[in-house]
Amino acid sequence: MSNGIVYLVGAGPGDPSLITLRGVECLKKADVVVYDYLANELLLTHAPVSAERIYAGKIGGRHNQGQDEINNLLVAKGKEGKIVVRLKGGDPFVFGRGGEECEALRDAGIPFEVVPGVTAAVGASAYSGIPLTHRDVTASVAFVTGQEGKDKNESNIDWDRLSLGGGTVVFYMGVTTLRRNMQRMMDHGRSADTPVALVRWATTPCQQVLVGTLADIADKAETSGFKPPAVTIVGEVVALREKLQWFDTRPLCGKKIIVTRAAEQAGEFSSSLAARGATVLECPTIRLAEPESWQLLDLAIRDLPTYDWVVLTSGNAVRYFFRRMNTLGTDARALANCRICAVGPKTADEIRSFGIKPDLIPADYTAEGVVQEFARLDIQNMRVLFPRADRARDVIPSELKRMGAHVDSPVAYRNIFPERLPPETLFALEKRSVDCITFTSSSTVQNLAAMLGEERMLDMLKGVVVASIGPITSKSCRDLGLKVDIEPASYTLAALTEALETHFS
Ligand code: SAH
Repeated sequence: MSNGIVYLVGAGPGDPSLITLRGVECLKKADVVVYDYLANELLLTHAPVSAERIYAGKIGGRHNQGQDEINNLLVAKGKEGKIVVRLKGGDPFVFGRGGEECEALRDAGIPFEVVPGVTAAVGASAYSGIPLTHRDVTASVAFVTGQEGKDKNESNIDWDRLSLGGGTVVFYMGVTTLRRNMQRMMDHGRSADTPVALVRWATTPCQQVLVGTLADIADKAETSGFKPPAVTIVGEVVALREKLQWFDTRPLCGKKIIVTRAAEQAGEFSSSLAARGATVLECPTIRLAEPESWQLLDLAIRDLPTYDWVVLTSGNAVRYFFRRMNTLGTDARALANCRICAVGPKTADEIRSFGIKPDLIPADYTAEGVVQEFARLDIQNMRVLFPRADRARDVIPSELKRMGAHVDSPVAYRNIFPERLPPETLFALEKRSVDCITFTSSSTVQNLAAMLGEERMLDMLKGVVVASIGPITSKSCRDLGLKVDIEPASYTLAALTEALETHFS
């Protein structure tokens, strides 16, 4: 006997973070994943790289024909002893044919488990601000297929009961049959002015909501060319959306924003933009790498007690510097006699995470700001260590030397640029569907120009809002012929995020 098992996992309605923890656990141990059109493909990243991925849409083509083949596939993989995840949009047991798949597995003696998911009606309800039930408004809700009973006399749906009494009704698969079903509800007694909402691609950045009444929603859907997949919510609760909508009112909702950053860094900034509703396209223009030689940095680390100041101007410099200290078998105590300067609050946080409190943070978070602060101190004959990026500007070492300091500036890490853009980002630029591009250092814009070619970059960014983190980066943009539309007053990612919000609101 084999140990095969099939997990029917609900993928949730669209947003990949709406899957359950149990669903992710199953994906993590899968040998095979059989997934649907409506299950977000990003969820496949939870499965091991080695797992076989089978798109169920390809198996049988449309609707019915494929179901037997899918059942057979699940049985066959189970018999081979595989851990199979059958990943289905929404919930497996709500219009998902999960029941049929379980019957087939049971008949073949293959063990299975069912992991529930957030069904489309529930996802659409939350993300459109339409509670499916609401005290004093409605106390019941029904999920109904929009495809039942194409022939009027053969419907299994009790239209009288559905239409009378005022309960909320949610139709699945009901866009093409919208007119007929709305008419039926009116024919069976629901008032023509009952509010109706169509919610398409609920919980995703492309969510669309169209509101009308039983009488006019079909016309509105036709005029606006409204397409599946969508649920249709019918009932007085729809009126609550006016007060309760939150998803589509977020400040960056519907905006496509390119984030150009070092691959290792993009995460936090991207998620703060996404949390404000933006669709983020990451575009790494820098990759970090170790220095070609550690020799100079190693010498400096060995001599740390002889330095008066250590100047750190990026989170990367901090990480590479401390990591190298660790590799050499020393730790933060070697810095006991040094004072530490951080270029800005983020770098300072990074330094604190290694157990050290920075002594100096300039008011202006740039190399020039650092120089200004040092100009107020007497650093004649002091020894300053500046572990830097290979492409860092020369401002700090040259200015501090002018003030009489002895400055050592060994390379702690290198910025290398990748050869090409990620395909989704390039595609969006070519389709001219990008709203904004963000540059967070001179090298991000310079590298993008190198990757695309200057003229092509200028052409592709025509009509795209350019956001730069500060004056130096803005100058690099302008040097390349770009007009800068957004530049925050203080040079942090938080300030840049806020400036984007203000610009687009
Ligand atoms: N098992 C799924 C439903 C599959 S039937 C679930 O529980 O959600 C397919 C129908 O689900 C579509 O025609 C549409 O009506 C609805 N649907 C699925 N995902 C949707 C989404 N993100 N937004 C709106 N409707 C969706």
